[in-house]
Amino acid sequence: MTVEAAYYHAVIATDGAALESDVPIHAGSEAAEECRPGCGACCIAPSISSPIPGMPNGKPAGVRCVQLDDANLCRLFGDPRRPAVCRRFDYDAELCGDSRDQALARITALEVAT
Ligand code: SF4
Repeated sequence: MTVEAAYYHAVIATDGAALESDVPIHAGSEAAEECRPGCGACCIAPSISSPIPGMPNGKPAGVRCVQLDDANLCRLFGDPRRPAVCRRFDYDAELCGDSRDQALARITALEVAT
C-alpha cells in the first residue's frame, strides 16, 4: 500500500463534492470533532501523487502545497482544479489529534511507517 493510499485509508471516505465549501469544515462523528480551519497539516505532511495546479507532479511528503495560503487554507476550495484526492480529505480524530503539531507529527509518522 502506498503512503498516500494508507493515509487516505485512514480517513473517512466521503463524496468529494459534498465537502466543497469556502471553509474546510468537515462533518465529524461528534460535533466537537471536526477539521481545524487553518491547520493545513494534511496539505504539508503527506505526499500527494496527483497533479496539483502549480505542482504538476504532485508533492513529496513534508513539502507545503503551493495552493495552501498564508492562513493555511486551500486556495482551490470550490475550484474544479482541486485534486479529487484532496476533496476526499476528512477529519480523523486519531490522525489529526488535538493540535496542528500533533497532526503534522502523526501524519509524518504514518508516511515514514508505510
Ligand atoms: S490542493 Fe488544496 S487541499 Fe490539496 S494539498 Fe493543496 S492546499 Fe491542500
